Amino acid sequence: MVNQTTEHTLKANTVVQVAHSVKEALELKAQRPLSSRLISGGTLIQLEREQGKVLPEQLISLEQIPSLRGIEETEDFMIIGAMTTLSECANVECLKTVIPTVASPAVRNRATLGGNLMYTCGDTIPALIALDAKVTVVDGAEERTVSVIDFLPLRADEPIVTHIHIPKESVESFFYQKVGFRKSFSKSQLTVSSMLCLDNQRVQNNVRFAFSDGERAAMRLTSTEQALVGQQLTKSIIQEASETLRKELALIDTATTYQRTVAKNVFISELINRMEGSFE
Ligand SMILES: Cc1cc2nc3c(=O)[nH]c(=O)nc-3n(C[C@H](O)[C@H](O)[C@H](O)COP(=O)(O)OP(=O)(O)OC[C@H]3O[C@@H](n4cnc5c(N)ncnc54)[C@H](O)[C@@H]3O)c2cc1C
Repeated sequence: MVNQTTEHTLKANTVVQVAHSVKEALELKAQRPLSSRLISGGTLIQLEREQGKVLPEQLISLEQIPSLRGIEETEDFMIIGAMTTLSECANVECLKTVIPTVASPAVRNRATLGGNLMYTCGDTIPALIALDAKVTVVDGAEERTVSVIDFLPLRADEPIVTHIHIPKESVESFFYQKVGFRKSFSKSQLTVSSMLCLDNQRVQNNVRFAFSDGERAAMRLTSTEQALVGQQLTKSIIQEASETLRKELALIDTATTYQRTVAKNVFISELINRMEGSFE
C-alpha cells in the first residue's frame, strides 16, 4: 500500500520513497512516471550524480522488498533476485570469473545484479548473454520473462527487474574476459564472453559469443556462432571462424580498431585452448 511508504528527503529536493513490495514500487512509479527512478544499491546513481547528472524528484528504493533478494537453485536454473548484491553473486559457480572484474569489493557489497543489468554497459551483461540467462521484468500489470539479449531494448521503458534466471549449463564451456587498463577496479575497454560446448570436439548448437565495447549495450556475434555450429574444432575451422569474426566485428562502427583486434584475438585464443591437442 502506498500510504505505508517511508519517505526521506535529500538536500537536492529529491524524495526517497521506500517500497515494500513490487506492487507498491509500481504504484509509486505510476504516480510520477517522468520524474522518478528506481534505486537499488545506488552505486551507479551516485556515480552519475558525481558526474553532474541531476537526481529526479523521486527515488523509489527497492531495498525493503525481500522477494527481490537471494539466490534459489532449481534443477535447471540458478534464480537470482535482482536486489542480490554482486558480492553475493560471486558465490554462483558460473559467475565466479565475472564478479571480481566488476568495480571494487566495497562497491560490489552494495551494487546489485539488477542494477548492473540496467547499466548501459554493465560488465555482467556479456556473461549473462553467453550463459543464455533470462530476465523477469514487471512492466505495468504485465510480468514477463525474456532472454537477456531481448531484454536490452526494453530497458528504455524502465521496467522493474525482479529475477535473473541462469541455466545450469556446463561451466567448463563458459568463458569470460574483461579487458581494462588495470587488472581490477578498471573501466572495461571491452568485454567478451562465450559458451562453447563440444561433443567429441564438435561444436554443439548452443554456441554463443557476446561482445561489449564498454560504451553501449552488449551484442551477440551470430555470424561467428553460425560459422562454428556443427564443426569439428580444427586449426582450419578456427582460421575460418577468425575471418568471420574479423568481418563481424568490423561492422560494429562504435568499436575501435584496438577493441576489434583484441576481441578477435581473445576469442581465437579461447578456441585454440579448447582445441584438443592444442598444446602438443
Ligand atoms: C567506483 C565505481 C566503479 C564502478 N565500476 C563498474 C564496473 O567495473 N563495471 C560495471 O559494470 N559497473 C561499474 N560501476 C557501476 C555500478 O556500480 C554497477 O553497474 C552496479 O551493478 C549498479 O547496481 P546498483 O544496484 O548500485 O544500481 P543503482 O545505482 O541502484 O541503479 C542503477 C540503474 O538501474 C536501475 N535499477 C536498479 N535496480 C533495478 C531493478 N531491480 N529493476 C529495474 N531498474 C533497476 C536504476 O533505476 C538505475 O537506472 C561502478 C560504480 C562505481 C561507483
